[in-house]
Amino acid sequence: MITAKAWAAQTPTSELAPWQFERREVGAHDVQFDIQYCGVCHSDLHQIRNDWFEGIFPMVPGHEIVGKVVKVGAHVKKFKVGDLAAVGCLVDSCRTCSSCNDGLEQYCLNGATGTYNSREQDHKTPTYGGYSNTIVVNEDFVLHISDKLDLTATAPLLCAGITTYSPLRHWKVGKGHKLAVLGLGGLGHMAVKFGVAFGADVTVLSTSPKKEADAKKLGAHHFVVTTDPEQVKKAKGSFDFILDTVSAEHDLSFYLSLLKVNGSLICVGLPSSPFSLPAFSVVGGRKSVAGSSIGGIAETQEMLDFCAEKGIVSDIELIAMKDIQSAYDRMIKGDVRYRFVIDMATL
Ligand code: NAP
Ligand code: ZN
Ligand code: ZN
Repeated sequence: MITAKAWAAQTPTSELAPWQFERREVGAHDVQFDIQYCGVCHSDLHQIRNDWFEGIFPMVPGHEIVGKVVKVGAHVKKFKVGDLAAVGCLVDSCRTCSSCNDGLEQYCLNGATGTYNSREQDHKTPTYGGYSNTIVVNEDFVLHISDKLDLTATAPLLCAGITTYSPLRHWKVGKGHKLAVLGLGGLGHMAVKFGVAFGADVTVLSTSPKKEADAKKLGAHHFVVTTDPEQVKKAKGSFDFILDTVSAEHDLSFYLSLLKVNGSLICVGLPSSPFSLPAFSVVGGRKSVAGSSIGGIAETQEMLDFCAEKGIVSDIELIAMKDIQSAYDRMIKGDVRYRFVIDMATL
């Protein structure tokens, strides 16, 4: 077994603290890489707090993982020692169901294996994430990253990037569309970059007036403060798509009123409480409410290659492992500019 150093939550109410655990030996199809940087996703916070469901503790969060390969199994074909490597939210799936066959491992009908707070395909062994020094993953779930991009700023592409890229591609958002990105945080700022790259007219809908200048720098064409009734009035009925990245409870029918007839609101944010959805808010205007989860492995590689070609990375604040709690505190206040990334050398 490989002893890994990490920071873990021992219970849903405890702060993260140093912890050691065992990772499996490198199998014939496995890649081991030493983790250099790991992004901090709002999902990390949801999960260590049991916001969604009863988690598996101790929990080592982190699913925006980049580093350098230190060992490969005898049958590994896609990686060699010294290569850059990355892992996102998935480390395995059943590989036999219709979703897996369609490259939609995130929707595996038998339950994909998440990078942490999940179980291996034996449905027993818990998985531990990227707030650690090293990881062992089957090569089919390890991604290639370009050495042309800044490695620290590449880490968030593995979740914030693919989670916004995938729905924009699925709904073919681009030229001629008015896209609103709801919430300017980790996911939101990547949605702005991709929306602009795909040719859409992009508006940020935000509760934080002070983010306007940043939104414009990220490429957004317009900015609407959703707490300002005058600005909201002008935006009514104007968007083809709203990509909803909000992490906390919010009023869907208020945002649905900003869609055009036939418009779609796509949820990627995962508040812990259920939405209330008055029938009138979708019936009037033939509107859709949809959702999307991360992306499959092939699409994640496609997104990483697209980012390398276009020079797209995340805007990040690099932190030391010991500062994780204050990063979470700022995240809860919506004060993320626009992704925290942990420097694993500080572990
Ligand atoms: P984040 O960086 O904290 O950003 C969330 C943003 O939402 C905030 O910056 C804030 O933006 C806005 N917001 C927060 N509370 C709000 C409220 N009450 N009303 C309106 N807006 C509010 O979080 P993230 O890492 O981007 O993650 C966002 C959500 O997506 C989380 O729930 C996360 O679990 C989920 N997620 C889902 C997937 C998936 O596959 N579907 C993948 C990753 C993450 P403003 O200041 O601009 O208002
Ligand atoms: Zn995430
Ligand atoms: Zn499957």
